[in-house]
Amino acid sequence: MAQILIVEDEERIASFVAKGLRAEGHQPTIAGDGPRGLDEAMSGRFDLMVLDIGLPGMDGFEVLDQLRSQGSRMPVIVLTARDSVTDTVTALDSGADDYMAKPFRFAELMARIRLRLRALAPPDAPAGGGDDLVVGGLRLDRRTRRISGPRGESELSAREFALAEIFLLNPGQVLTREQLLDLVWGYDFDPGSNVVDVYVGYLRKKLGAGAIATVRGVGYRLDA
Ligand code: CA
Repeated sequence: MAQILIVEDEERIASFVAKGLRAEGHQPTIAGDGPRGLDEAMSGRFDLMVLDIGLPGMDGFEVLDQLRSQGSRMPVIVLTARDSVTDTVTALDSGADDYMAKPFRFAELMARIRLRLRALAPPDAPAGGGDDLVVGGLRLDRRTRRISGPRGESELSAREFALAEIFLLNPGQVLTREQLLDLVWGYDFDPGSNVVDVYVGYLRKKLGAGAIATVRGVGYRLDA
């Protein structure tokens, strides 16, 4: 579990990211403007920061610049406007570790966060073992994207993997279609789409039909 600071003034995006991080077992904190973001970042209690560029009070570049000039080396992933090459270059020049162009999919942001957090782990941390998610008879290998269960072992596509990971992180909990759509496909995906149902169908083929229960009118639940 990591302490993650989200500096983002768009409430919808901030809460979408926070919700997703919580589902992944992390502890997110939201700051809605630049000065508050910098204050929080300087507290030293965060493992990583997700930083928007367009912020009231002080923009993301300045937050990053002050943070670095005060000696903080906390990993920072910057959220830039889509196709803004200038923003991206400036952000990386100012000391950002990575960036995501908006709109982004949660699964992509999560992959980058995981990568940065892993880079922080002490070098003698056990390799491999910590990356497996085990629930009941299911084991998800986060490095190889393979899942094994009563049906044997299968390889998962990127989306199947992201979906399986959410289920295994929340066993026995009902997850609504909207939550799954948000977490795996991103906040700008058409909410009327049946893509969640289609992918749950793919996972059932690999895990056995009984692994994921349908909760009528609500969503799905992992019964491992
Ligand atoms: Ca903004």
